[in-house]
Amino acid sequence: MSAEAQQAALKPGKLWIDGKSADCASGRTIEVINPATREVLATVPRGDAEDVDRAVQAARRAFENPAWRDMDPSARSKMLWRIGELIEKNLDDLARLESLNAGKPLKSARNGDMKPAADIFYYYAGWVRALHSEVIPVDGPFLNYTLREPVGVVGMITAWNYPMLLAAWKVAPALATGCTCVIKPSEMTPLTTLRLAEICQEAGVPDGVVNVVTGYGPEAGEALGRHMDVDKVAFTGSIRSARALLKASGESNLKRLSLELGGKSPNVIFPDADLDAALPAAFWAIYANKGEVCSAGSRLLLHEDVHDQFVEKLVEKASKMRVGDPLDPKTEMGAQISQTQLDRILGYIQSGKDEGAKLLCGGARDTDGVKSRGYFMKPTVFTGVKPEMKIAQEEIFGPVLSVMKFKDEEEAVAISNGTIYGLVSAVWTRDVQRAHRLARQIKAGVVWINTYNGFDSAAPFGGYKQSGFGREMGMHALESYTQVKAVWVAL
Ligand code: NAD
Repeated sequence: MSAEAQQAALKPGKLWIDGKSADCASGRTIEVINPATREVLATVPRGDAEDVDRAVQAARRAFENPAWRDMDPSARSKMLWRIGELIEKNLDDLARLESLNAGKPLKSARNGDMKPAADIFYYYAGWVRALHSEVIPVDGPFLNYTLREPVGVVGMITAWNYPMLLAAWKVAPALATGCTCVIKPSEMTPLTTLRLAEICQEAGVPDGVVNVVTGYGPEAGEALGRHMDVDKVAFTGSIRSARALLKASGESNLKRLSLELGGKSPNVIFPDADLDAALPAAFWAIYANKGEVCSAGSRLLLHEDVHDQFVEKLVEKASKMRVGDPLDPKTEMGAQISQTQLDRILGYIQSGKDEGAKLLCGGARDTDGVKSRGYFMKPTVFTGVKPEMKIAQEEIFGPVLSVMKFKDEEEAVAISNGTIYGLVSAVWTRDVQRAHRLARQIKAGVVWINTYNGFDSAAPFGGYKQSGFGREMGMHALESYTQVKAVWVAL
């Protein structure tokens, strides 16, 4: 990061309302921590209902403003493209800021966060000019056609594991369809979202279209959920907060919600699979981003014929993983986000031991050398896990792998579907019929065959069951930022 950019990140942050920096009404602040060192990176305002109201009013004015509402599709498309270009232009600074704030290795912040964040703007730049209405054949002397109109002011509430990317997944389709927004990033990782708002401004987005209110969930987040003039909330986070938002919507204006929640995703490996390809994929499925990934392959289902050999190699790999300073280019796994998250992970490890699972490696905090200053964990593998155990049912959101053995396809499907979640899944087999059978039988929003963690701006992502509803990315996300109007013309 350039000295200037570093300075900018460290100076006290502000809210972003109506195209400019703003203080919060209460004057209170939140300290933003570097989880690798526990040092204070910056302070940001502790926004609350009053600030949210100010931001929503700005977003409403911008929504009705002809400069935004009636913008030519070609101009809107170019504007989205420019946002993508500016993210790429600032890629190194943004990646470094995300790495410092979220404890993730610099390389993955570049490739796994910032590059796809830029790409989603390029992708939706194309859709601006491709989203057509329909003419519908109806009985009688009528012309019936549809108008696809923006849903309005969108509240966006995001988690701390992919701060910039989760915001970009929401802001890009919102801008493409003519919505305006108020983003409430996680209180732990607000810095890149504030930068995104500045980038939008630089790209020519009119004042008030993108607003950011930093603050805590039960204060600023809930205020968005309860606001009578917010038309939709796009949320990424936990089931607990999603319940609060559903309640808030029900008790206010019945605003629409799209919910991207957690997972306990099965990664199923049959004996006929290419095991050399499956091994690194299973490894990164759980340890990428220190396991703080909604799509983590946290349940590894191994066929009994390959179980022992696969586990042996996996444990060898996990024991050699380079855990350390996220800014060190050699680091493979960085720091967990907070003390609370560290304690939560350690609590699950204890429960795994108590319930009789076998701990093969890790299972403790990593306090080696400088790591004692931050929230580092050792990559952990449990075998002998039974489907009813807590570590097989609940989302740990850390580098803890629960390995289970199965004997046939039927049992693999039953275990895969046996949790409250249904976000993603993977199946490894060379049997093409079995692959497609399982793709239909597994209840999840994504099924990867002979791969893991495939993402593309064009492919929809979202959950079945309590992993949420609505889809992000692809043409499917456009549905949730628009509403359809039927127009009848007597001929
Ligand atoms: P969280 O629910 O605690 O926080 C998420 C956001 O909601 C934060 O901005 C928080 O301030 C806000 N919030 C908290 N309480 C709220 C309330 N009462 N009303 C409104 N907003 C509130 O979740 P987290 O710990 O930040 O994130 C981890 C969870 O997010 C995991 O379950 C993970 O699987 C999920 N996640 C899902 C996806 C996905 O795309 N499906 C992606 C990333 C993370």
